[in-house]
Amino acid sequence: MNLKRLEFTLTRKCNSQCIHCQADASPLRKGVMQVKDAHNYLAEATAVSNLESFMIFGGEPMLYPKRAIAIFKKASQFRIPKIDMITNGAWGKNKATAEKLAIKLKTAGLNTINISADAFHLQFMPLEYPINAALASLKAGIEDIKWNVALIESINATNKYDKKTAQILKTLQPIGIDTNTFKIVPAGRSIQNLRQYLTPTSLYGPCEEEPLEGNTLTNPESITIEPSGSADICWSLPIGNAKRVPLKRLITEYDWRRNPITRILVEEGPTRLLKLPEARDYQFQEEQYINKCHLCTEIRKTLKLHYPNAYS
Ligand code: SF4
Repeated sequence: MNLKRLEFTLTRKCNSQCIHCQADASPLRKGVMQVKDAHNYLAEATAVSNLESFMIFGGEPMLYPKRAIAIFKKASQFRIPKIDMITNGAWGKNKATAEKLAIKLKTAGLNTINISADAFHLQFMPLEYPINAALASLKAGIEDIKWNVALIESINATNKYDKKTAQILKTLQPIGIDTNTFKIVPAGRSIQNLRQYLTPTSLYGPCEEEPLEGNTLTNPESITIEPSGSADICWSLPIGNAKRVPLKRLITEYDWRRNPITRILVEEGPTRLLKLPEARDYQFQEEQYINKCHLCTEIRKTLKLHYPNAYS
């Protein structure tokens, strides 16, 4: 595996509960990554890969600012060029506190920050919070600051959410920060809440493209580690648990052909999972699924199809 990017879901806990949240984050979620585990994953990954970027996201990572800052420091010691965070900006509630936090983040090595600002996030928070977080980041000298914008279709679309997001971005224009847009995929809460807006596509055939940027099952370039240690190469698709098996081994020994699940997904696609003996009683109704990724995650979750103990 030629790993270029490592991501940590620091927590699935969040101050908000956005209707589109693909991580299904909420104030009720529990679990947060331990700093010692995070340090260990970084040491293991950098020992066998030339990481180009590292990112922490959630949930809301700044619910645990001390942990996030300690982890960024470690990433910076390993000389990872891009050190990144996605945050909803709730830490901008108080301007003076936000300025102190932004300086700590910058000093720890954070050089890229994506602050969520769209119709979904701002149902839960005044616009003033992400604005304060962005202004504090600018003042602290964090190099790359962007609005992180979730869209259903596009910024010019006529659905009520994208229209509202376009208005928000107009209000934010004077701050002079660029935007990173991404299209909402059927995962987490978007499935129930935004179903009518998500365009169904064919469920048949192998996995051709991944929802995660720069990631393929045959040669994954990115791994996301959950607080549980689950090391995922796609939505909820673990190649092992990094708390139990050294991440170094998971990275160097990964072979999509050795795992029946990744092999099926690459060669035949998620509908083939329905023919596994475990799926004997699975109620498959084609119209329930929005696309291959939706079907794939649902089947694996329902049937508890996990990576076999190839490494344990
Ligand atoms: S989308 Fe972001 S801010 Fe909203 S609930 Fe999910 S993690 Fe929290």
